[in-house]
This record gives sequence, structure tokens and C-alpha cells, in this order.
Amino acid sequence: MNVNTHLQQMKSGYLFTEIVNRTKAYQEEHPDAEILRLGVGDITRPLPAPIVEAMHRAVEEMGQPDTFRGYGLENGYAWLRQAILDNEYTPRGIDLTLDEVFISDGAGSDLGNLSELFDVRNTVAVLDPSYPAYEDTTLMAGRPIVFLPCTVENNFVPELPKVRVDIIYLCYPNNPLGTVLTREQMAQWVRYARENKSIIIFDAAYEAFIQSPDIPHSIYEIPGAKEVAIEVCSYSKSAGFTGVRCGYTVVPKATGLQAMWLRRQCTKYNGTSYISQRGAMAAYTPEGKAAIRTNITYYQQTAQLLLNGLRQLGYEAYGGVHAPYIWCRVPQGYTSWSFFDLLLDRCQVVCTPGAGFGPSGEGYVRFSAFSKREDCIEALERMEQL
Ligand code: PLP
Repeated sequence: MNVNTHLQQMKSGYLFTEIVNRTKAYQEEHPDAEILRLGVGDITRPLPAPIVEAMHRAVEEMGQPDTFRGYGLENGYAWLRQAILDNEYTPRGIDLTLDEVFISDGAGSDLGNLSELFDVRNTVAVLDPSYPAYEDTTLMAGRPIVFLPCTVENNFVPELPKVRVDIIYLCYPNNPLGTVLTREQMAQWVRYARENKSIIIFDAAYEAFIQSPDIPHSIYEIPGAKEVAIEVCSYSKSAGFTGVRCGYTVVPKATGLQAMWLRRQCTKYNGTSYISQRGAMAAYTPEGKAAIRTNITYYQQTAQLLLNGLRQLGYEAYGGVHAPYIWCRVPQGYTSWSFFDLLLDRCQVVCTPGAGFGPSGEGYVRFSAFSKREDCIEALERMEQL
């Protein structure tokens, strides 16, 4: 056999593994250090009670002969797909059908798996910096990649590609930048995709954090997007499902890809667990919605606190309003990794070095508002002493 040389040649070390390793090494050398983790984008608040209760009920059903369920549909239970249409799309004037919604085990798998729909020679545009999955998936398949720099010079808004690209990964609200696109900026991408017969894979994992009615939650709010966009959504960051695993992906028939995706899923995916889907369903009850809103508000307030605190300390900090991430410029003379080391060494604070998100991330670090509020306050106090 021959191995996948594209995968073999990828640079070793996933960003977050390297952070964990450096933090662990520091802790071993300084066993008494109280390390404050403001780096990783995992949620920290427990699951809302209505979701836990719904999953408990689902477990009980699984233990009874009359209500036990085996394999579900590959694309998910119809009641959950209907709830998604009724809660996420119809109120925004977006008309989709049940079979265009595919329940997943979270955004992460589909963001990579969707690439199986496309020819391996397709060119892929990836924001730089960005969540590592888009670039890594593209490199693993050996597809040519075009980076779209998001820098302070372009206000962190990527310009349209100068060469024609086939596949475009967009992520808004953005991880790691914490930025959003206006309706008009999003419409430019839809126009580009329509004119160039490209497809947009739109990662909306953080849409629940949007605070302004002017910012689109879904790319399908843009007329004409249904022909050129697939949308990938997740309950991870809204309902706290990072460890439960459930999300959904919308593949409109108008893309010409819906039947292919169903075909692929039927072979390679045996469905999301009934228990997870019941948990997700509870996210749409009045109690579930209220509990989720409480958690998101908590993270939003933490983000505000971090953003203001960093600015007061004199840092150039961005994002943090419609997203749980703050993108912060490192002081002159530092790289993103040397500043990471400085914060760890002098403040026992862990952030995420921007260079790990792509070349344009050099010179920045990311702070996450999923961190505990008291840790953020303490981290800002320690950073004041730097
Ligand atoms: N997309 C973005 C932009 C993310 O930041 C993450 C997780 O951090 C994911 C997708 C993965 O989400 P999930 O837990 O649904 O796989």
C-alpha cells in the first residue's frame, strides 16, 4: 500500500496539542502555579437543565422494549429537522425543506467530510487566519489552497480571491478573529460564488453570539445563496454540546449536491445518537431557549470584560462583541509564540498564539471568553503587572 503522502507530509502538531504540551511542561516545572486557561475554545458552563432532563428521558426510553430505538435515519429524526426549520430558518424568511437539513455529530466532522463532494483538483480558499480544520482538510486531500489574508490593513475583512477558486470556506462569526460580516459583505461572496460557479462552505458555529439584528445569522439570508452555499451549524457553542456531539448541515437541493451528500452519508454515517438529538430538541423548548440564552449572555459579558480590560491595559484588541473570541495584538518585539511563553511564564495565563491559525495570525494571540469569569478578571490583574 501507499500512504496518503499529503497527510504524511503535514506539519506535525495540532495547535491545541502544542498549547497543552507547553502548559503541561510549565505546570510540571511549577507545581504550585495556578494557571489560568484563556486559550481553548471549549465551553465551561455545564449543560442547561432542560437539555439534561430531555437526555435522561431519552436514556429511559432506550431501556424500555416499547420505546427503544436502534439506528435512526442517516440524516436525523424528522422532529429535530422540523424544529430547526421552524426555529432557525422560517423566522428569518428562509425557505428550506426537511430533506435539505442533515443532523450531524457536530460541525467538525462535516467541515472535513463535505470536501468528499468535490473533485480533488478543486482550488480551495481559506481565510488566513482561520480555524485549522479548513486548511488541514484541504491539505490532507492534496487540494491547492489559496489564503485570503485578514489583517488590520483590511480591517480583518478578506478580499475576494484574485484567482478563481472552486470552494470557499467562510466562518462567521469568526474564530479566531471574533469578527462578523455585514449583509453587504456577505452578499459580495454570494455574488462571487454565483459568477464563478464556486461553492461556499459557511461555518455558522457561533451564530448564536450575534448581538445586532443587522448581522446575518445564516448565509441563506442573502438572496441567491441557496444555489451556492452549504451551511454548517453546531449545538456545541450555543447549547454546550462540545462533549455531547450534535449539529446540523444544510445542503440545499439548489446546489445540486443534496442527493450526493445523502448518498455519501447513507454509506459513511449511521446517524447521530437518539439521546443527543433529544437533547438538541430540548434546545428549542421555551425553557431550553431561556437556559441557553443565560449561558450565552454570560459568555458575551465575559467577552466584553476581556475586551475592555485588554484595551485598558493598552492592547489593540478586536472582536469579542458578536463572538466569544478576542483577537489581540502582541506588544512590539514579540511573536505570537514568544508572547504566549511570556504570559505563561510571568502571569501563568494561557492564550492561543495567532500564528497557529495561519501566517497572518503572527503578531496576535486569541483570548477565549469561554474561560471562567473570575479567571479572566485575575488574568487581567496579573497582566497589569507585566
Ligand atoms: N467551527 C468552528 C469555527 C469552531 O471553532 C469549532 C470548534 O471549536 C467547530 C467548528 C467544531 O464544532 P463542533 O464541536 O460542532 O464539532
